[in-house]
Amino acid sequence: MAAACRQPPGAFMPVIDRNRCEAKGPCVPACPFDVLAILPVSAADKRGLSIAGRVKLFVHGGAQAYAVNADACQACGLCVAVCPEKAITLARQPPV
Ligand code: SF4
Repeated sequence: MAAACRQPPGAFMPVIDRNRCEAKGPCVPACPFDVLAILPVSAADKRGLSIAGRVKLFVHGGAQAYAVNADACQACGLCVAVCPEKAITLARQPPV
């Protein structure tokens, strides 16, 4: 069960695969902690895209999911489960 897997806030964060995300957005309402938002892709992130990723970004309006409130993530995995592009993974945040 996803709820049984919860971690302390900020121990993990969602990582978005920029070559997979199509800004479909089910991850945004799925997150109980408002971690994710759909935003315009930054110039730095655009530079890191593959050719196919750039085409996909153009077709889907230049926006993708971002972890705008990553420190609130409790690793429930709901965003991972609802993403139709399998673009989200959870990664342990480095200790501060
Ligand atoms: S794992 Fe859960 S808490 Fe973390 S961003 Fe995804 S839906 Fe939100």
